[in-house]
Amino acid sequence: MADKYDIIVIGSGPGGYVAAIRAAQLGMKVACVEGWLDEKDQQVLGGTCLNVGCIPSKALLEISHKYEEAKHGFEHQGLIAGNLDVDVPKMMAHKNGIVKNLTGGIAGLFKANGVKSITGWGTVLSKKQVSVKDKDDKETIYEAENIIIATGSRPIEIPPAKLDNDRIVDSTGALEFDEVPKRLGVIGAGIIGLELGSVWNRLGSEVTVLEAQDKFLPTVDQTIAKDGLKHFTKQGLEIKLKARVTHTEVKRNLVYVTYEDADGKEQQFKCDRLIVSVGRTPNSEKLFSSDSGVNLDERGFVFVDDDCLTSVPGIYAIGDVVRGPMLAHKASEEGIAVADRIAGEKTEVNYDCIPNVIYTHPELAWVGQTEEELKAEGEPYKVGTFSMAANGRAMAANATEGLVKVIAHEKTDRILGVHIVSHQASEMIAQAVIAMEFGASAEDLALTCFAHPTLSESLHEAAMNVDGKAIHKANRRKKK
Ligand code: FAD
Ligand code: AMP
Repeated sequence: MADKYDIIVIGSGPGGYVAAIRAAQLGMKVACVEGWLDEKDQQVLGGTCLNVGCIPSKALLEISHKYEEAKHGFEHQGLIAGNLDVDVPKMMAHKNGIVKNLTGGIAGLFKANGVKSITGWGTVLSKKQVSVKDKDDKETIYEAENIIIATGSRPIEIPPAKLDNDRIVDSTGALEFDEVPKRLGVIGAGIIGLELGSVWNRLGSEVTVLEAQDKFLPTVDQTIAKDGLKHFTKQGLEIKLKARVTHTEVKRNLVYVTYEDADGKEQQFKCDRLIVSVGRTPNSEKLFSSDSGVNLDERGFVFVDDDCLTSVPGIYAIGDVVRGPMLAHKASEEGIAVADRIAGEKTEVNYDCIPNVIYTHPELAWVGQTEEELKAEGEPYKVGTFSMAANGRAMAANATEGLVKVIAHEKTDRILGVHIVSHQASEMIAQAVIAMEFGASAEDLALTCFAHPTLSESLHEAAMNVDGKAIHKANRRKKK
């Protein structure tokens, strides 16, 4: 007889492993199926995020930022760095060590919480059965009361830039270069393209980013998108908008990239390596037998309702494989909510309060609605901004680029969106998320005491400035 579980989770990324742990902690019998193997055929837990996404990219961003600052930012602060150099293999080994530490941590957490880890690729059959095939194609069938699909996503490939995994790579390849490319091309000025372009730019590459759209970060609040673009350009990232890549060719270790420019003219440039970062697509092929009853949408995402329930009762789907932003913390929140829901608790993910971050320097971070969205909806709003250049802690940290923008409802004063460009904006945005989650008004933030000196004081000042009351600004009113 097939082994039976209360919950079988398919996929061990930040959606799947978090769901499995929470469900097991709630007393359920849980198995997590993961098919990823390393070069020694050992199971790899943690998904995209831990292995080839959030964690390795942030490790390289942190290291490259230190290098860049030592190289160009130390001298005027009175620090002499001497002969600074980059040892790429050592840097990669350090990054790989961090990944190993964290993925090993998941194996430990599974053990400690009683999650059974099953190695192999899962397929959902009818009657809530799951088939798991190992590397030798040996099939085992399991049964479950509930199934959580958390199979994530993979990079999109485009015909004009076929990957050869040497000169033309996706984000995974860009985290593994064995040397700093002299000239680097990046297709796509999205979050991943900007982060990986920044890593190699700081380490010495001449970076050209080609973006088909005419607006930079079109879905981001344009105040911070424009400010970000200014800083990235100053740092040496050449970002070409309205540049659609139409063809690539590798000749003698060089990549010849052909693109259509803003005037519709064909242009060409050559680089040593090319990163293709044009978005991600859900892992939903071969995941369901034809009689499973689970529906996909037209783009291949597993179709779910607001509670992450698919078209079959008892089968849920979370994370990158379903609608919504492709973010690790969104996947984890959905994982926790679904596990709690199966255990009979009432839960909800607040999709209006999911923070977004681009981990460049300065970082871009935001939550809630943009000014452009509010304008289009005809919602009355007011805005308070504050520049990081006037923040004492930012000066002390040699990081005065950027600003904080708080948008509140014109009548109710409720905070509708917060948009930040700053050193450590990723940390600062959490305060805005908490405030919005609690339904705070701009005045609530303005009346809150912030520690001095902190970067967060700029959030305080921006909130005060929603009503023209920032202190470190010319805000004198006429006497009534
Ligand atoms: P995944 O992490 O993709 O995990 C899915 C897992 O399912 C994989 O391990 C896969 O092997 C397994 N799987 C697939 N099919 C099957 C099957 N049939 N049977 C068994 N197992 C299966 N997000 C952030 O929030 N912050 C960041 O800073 C950030 N940086 C990123 C940087 C890069 C370079 C990339 C590529 C992504 C980044 N992301 C970031 C996005 C983030 O990694 C994803 O949103 C997140 O990993 C999604 O989690 P998930 O659990 O849905 O899927
Ligand atoms: P994201 O989905 O946020 O990672 O961003 C991917 C970006 O790649 C989008 O802004 C797309 O406009 C861009 N893109 C997709 N195809 C091409 C192409 N052929 N040439 C240049 N940019 C592209």
